[in-house]
Amino acid sequence: DPDVQVSLARIPLPGGERLLMVRDISALTRLEQIRRDFVANVSHELRTPLTVIHGYLELLEPEDVPALAPVLAEMRTQSKRMGQIVEDLLTLSRLETQERLPEERVAMAPLLATLRREAEALSQGRHRIGVESADDADLRGSPKDLHSAFSNLVSNAVRYTPTGGRIAIRWSRTSDGAVFAVSDTGYGIPAQHIPRLTERFYRVSSSRSRETGGTGLGLSIVKHVLALHDARLEIASEPGKGSTFACVFGAERVLEPGVEDG
Ligand code: ADP
Repeated sequence: DPDVQVSLARIPLPGGERLLMVRDISALTRLEQIRRDFVANVSHELRTPLTVIHGYLELLEPEDVPALAPVLAEMRTQSKRMGQIVEDLLTLSRLETQERLPEERVAMAPLLATLRREAEALSQGRHRIGVESADDADLRGSPKDLHSAFSNLVSNAVRYTPTGGRIAIRWSRTSDGAVFAVSDTGYGIPAQHIPRLTERFYRVSSSRSRETGGTGLGLSIVKHVLALHDARLEIASEPGKGSTFACVFGAERVLEPGVEDG
């Protein structure tokens, strides 16, 4: 790798010579920094023109030319989609540069209720949606970011489950922490794809993902949000049967209900 400087030195020691290898990765970290800044700047610059295009598309009324109605509808959909990609890229940039997130009590009961409403809105009655919460535990973390992570998992479950399927949202304590999990009876994921799902823009099937309106950045965002909460994502899936995405939190993240934060 031309960007990694490697130095070797022989160190004479009693009992024989030792070889010392030093790899200087500062060029690599610098490149990584440039990549991050570039993505953040491009996304930021795209925001304003997109807002203008989107605004004008909303104003247009193709009354005189009825044939334009489907064209306009498609343009609105695509400009919304582009806007969503830009917002997700900005979210990822923010998460990548933050070492810690602001922390407060994340009340789980209202959050679960919100997630159920979101799932129902997205499903439009096409799935059976259940919420199981055996525990009244809360989380310590960033409410906004945990909401966006959980919400990504819920929307994936809806989008990758055919009509008539079931979606279960679960929140419960474990022996050493707590788990938030979303299960579906959807398409499932072949095993070889699972390790790569949290990579940016990685998709099992780009056509299906495009149809269902994803940005390809959702699970990347989930991974970053969880890492900033010292939590991990566990994925279990069987093609044709369904998937479970579980966010596993340590005991230090679990708050007892009603106890003042301190
Ligand atoms: P996308 O916007 O494409 O949904 P994500 O990062 O959220 O992007 O997910 C990455 C890929 O993982 C998806 O394109 C899809 O192939 C797969 N995936 C995610 N969630 C599920 C699920 N619940 N069932 C089946 N496949 C899923």
